[in-house]
Amino acid sequence: MELASREAYEKMLDRVLSRVQSSRADRGERTISLTPEIIHEHRQTIIANFKQLADALGREPQHLARFIFKETGRPGTLDGERAILSGRVGDEELGKLLQLYFKEFVKCPVCGGIDTKIVSEKRFRFLVCEICGAKTPIRKI
Ligand SMILES: [Zn+2]
Repeated sequence: MELASREAYEKMLDRVLSRVQSSRADRGERTISLTPEIIHEHRQTIIANFKQLADALGREPQHLARFIFKETGRPGTLDGERAILSGRVGDEELGKLLQLYFKEFVKCPVCGGIDTKIVSEKRFRFLVCEICGAKTPIRKI
């Protein structure tokens, strides 16, 4: 018991230390511009700057695409820089989805930082923050 609590204490200490260190580092206030360029044609919705959006979010286009396809309930494909969804998806809806994705899969819920990455452990996925070290479970998509 004592050993376990000592380990927990050391872990906590690590966490605190890394928080102190990282708060000293130059965090910079960065904002991400998320403006989808949307084209509607032939019963399709094309996001022309899709890869650029994924890059801005620091995520794989495939991951962002799976999220969009799942949330809109529409099948789609990636085509170079673009994503193509079947049917008409409104600009406002896509804008909201990008915000949701940002909140759920990019932004650290603990410190609000955006220097995060997605880590897979067995069948679980976590959002790991490079600033505060927080590890938050996220859903698999
Ligand atoms: Zn954080």
